[in-house]
Amino acid sequence: MSAPKPIAAGNWKMNGLKASAVEARSLVEKVSQQGSGDAEVLICPPFTLLGLFADIFGGTGVTLGAQDCHANASGAHTGDISAEMIKDTGADYVIVGHSERRADHGESDAVVKAKAEAAYRAGLKAIICVGETEGERDSDKTIDVVCGQLDGSIPDDATAETTVIAYEPVWAIGTGKTPTADDVKEVHAAIRDNLVKRFGAAGEGMRLLYGGSVKPSNAEELMSVANVNGALVGGASLKADDFDGIINAYR
Ligand code: PEP
Repeated sequence: MSAPKPIAAGNWKMNGLKASAVEARSLVEKVSQQGSGDAEVLICPPFTLLGLFADIFGGTGVTLGAQDCHANASGAHTGDISAEMIKDTGADYVIVGHSERRADHGESDAVVKAKAEAAYRAGLKAIICVGETEGERDSDKTIDVVCGQLDGSIPDDATAETTVIAYEPVWAIGTGKTPTADDVKEVHAAIRDNLVKRFGAAGEGMRLLYGGSVKPSNAEELMSVANVNGALVGGASLKADDFDGIINAYR
């Protein structure tokens, strides 16, 4: 089977106003001038910017995603956004189960799985996040924790087309700390093994992103690790120049 097409994905979290369109346009310009190698370039802004960014990215080499969705298609859920609404903006992806959602909103694996199912229902691809805390790593529970999250969060009908997995050690997010390339290799190998055992060839084709303090200076090393098929990038995705430096790992 040919290697899955990598993704350079930016998660803007709760950052960005209409004025941030400058960065979105600058990214489009860089990707249209220099290409993105063999990588798909994806930006997941806050809900408030999805419509504006859909207009900016339409017909360009940059794709659009959201950062969360509700499990239901519609209804009495004040303040929530459904996968169908996200799809309606022109987005193709939605992140589910980010550790900040799991921590800030108490999202369990079952909730994450229901959100991934909602993504499939709406025709979106789900980026399902997993990752251990510092305490779990220190007590050698990383592989057990990550595999438990995979088992509980990925729907049974996941395919290589609908599902991307992001391994994001919680202690590496926004801290400037990263695991060693060997540590990433070990966890990604365990994730691949788990997916292949459960999904067969589909598990072989699912893209596995690494996330946690990826920046231009470490992207090439992290992206060259076996079974790493791209990056999920927080802070360094907010500025087109920085994110472009990460895309360079694929040019
Ligand atoms: C993230 O939140 O998905 C992330 C990886 O953040 P950062 O790159 O800022 O560590």
